[in-house]
Amino acid sequence: MHSGTRQTDMANRVIVAGAGPVGLAAAVALADRGVPVLVLEKRGRLTAASKASTFHPSTLEILDALGVIAPVLAAGQRIDRIQYRTDAAGIIAEYDLGLLANETRYPFRLHLEQSRVTPLLLDRLAEHDHAEIRFGAEVVDAVNEDGGVTAVVAGPAGSETVRGLYLIAADGARSAIRDRLGIAFDGSAYSTKVLRLMTDMDLEAWLPGLAPVTYVFNGEKSISLLRMPDCWRIIIRLPVSVPDEEALKPEWMLARLREVLPMAERLPPLINTDIYSASKRVAARYRDGGVFLAGDSVHVTNTRGGMNMNCGLHDAWYLAGAMAEAIQTGDLNALDAYAEERHRIATDFLIPRTDRSVGDATTWLETVRMRAADPEATRAFLVEGAMLDIAPRPFGAGATSREAMQ
Ligand SMILES: Cc1cc2nc3c(=O)[nH]c(=O)nc-3n(C[C@H](O)[C@H](O)[C@H](O)COP(=O)(O)OP(=O)(O)OC[C@H]3O[C@@H](n4cnc5c(N)ncnc54)[C@H](O)[C@@H]3O)c2cc1C
Repeated sequence: MHSGTRQTDMANRVIVAGAGPVGLAAAVALADRGVPVLVLEKRGRLTAASKASTFHPSTLEILDALGVIAPVLAAGQRIDRIQYRTDAAGIIAEYDLGLLANETRYPFRLHLEQSRVTPLLLDRLAEHDHAEIRFGAEVVDAVNEDGGVTAVVAGPAGSETVRGLYLIAADGARSAIRDRLGIAFDGSAYSTKVLRLMTDMDLEAWLPGLAPVTYVFNGEKSISLLRMPDCWRIIIRLPVSVPDEEALKPEWMLARLREVLPMAERLPPLINTDIYSASKRVAARYRDGGVFLAGDSVHVTNTRGGMNMNCGLHDAWYLAGAMAEAIQTGDLNALDAYAEERHRIATDFLIPRTDRSVGDATTWLETVRMRAADPEATRAFLVEGAMLDIAPRPFGAGATSREAMQ
């Protein structure tokens, strides 16, 4: 513990480190259940960075339970079809998310920047007198002691310690708390990175009948096209060996685009471009005493299928329900189960699922085509893609069940 630090005591509250989507969702879910929460965020404000954009049906159920579904639906782009094309044959398969109508109240995906959702969660949190958020407050250590957790917090005014009954480490992939607790985060980097081109051109001009999520293949080359509320995202995968400066040159981008979309005579008008790399890692443990980890602090993977943030929001929902139950009834069962079950979800489902379309395109396309001819196989595939089978259910207030695991 740092010497000369101030100490604030509030023994029955939950401390949440990190005001990303996972930390805020957990905080709202706890506060809605009457549990006092203190959110500590190291930045001066919520990040506006463009990151995840896909909210799956299972997550829309959770956003509904968190009281933000109306503004999310109003702002987002509804996605009801997923299309697969080849340069040579045109549309080879199209899956209708309406096949999920018996599984969920939200049989569609929603595309919306995660940075449009976090302010809505922050507003919800502000509705509670027993919820507090501090920006510019970096958790640099978390210590289990005396039946609670003490967090060491560094801020502009110096350092202080704060006490809580539990601490949720939702402090992202580079989690300082995970590292301080000595929890391994093993895995490996992917051999490709992602180049994203954002354009406000209507891509139907190139591909009439385009669905709002479309994968286009030409041999082993492929491009993903994602419709956002105000633009299209064009996703191109490139070897990590290509330097970013090279990949961001207009002639390089156009050449890659034309490998799959030969009708593109020039680059579309670009409103943004970026490059990111990815790795797959799962933390060795989701818990250390009263410290529970959730979201990117315990799992990261590639962005195919857009599952990682969704999985983190599922963690948050499960954990908040379990924690509220433990605090209010003394029943620790769901809390004990959290660490084990969510770890298993990440290793047995999240990582294999986000990896399954990585690899041989010809085999993958053949599977896509055969599945399209079989509505039951298509429905089962969409259930998995929507993460409905691995989400904590049911979604009613206070509920965290192990139904999905049974
Ligand atoms: C370019 C890109 C595209 C992506 N696309 C997708 C997608 O399509 N679908 C998908 O599901 N996922 C996607 N992801 C992943 C998704 O963005 C993450 O899974 C998601 O942000 C995880 O949320 P989180 O709250 O766990 O962590 P973060 O969003 O990283 O939030 C962590 C928060 O904790 C704060 N913090 C960090 N350290 C501390 C500390 N010591 N003390 C206090 N606060 C701290 C940070 O400032 C931050 O606000 C993408 C990621 C990137 C980078």
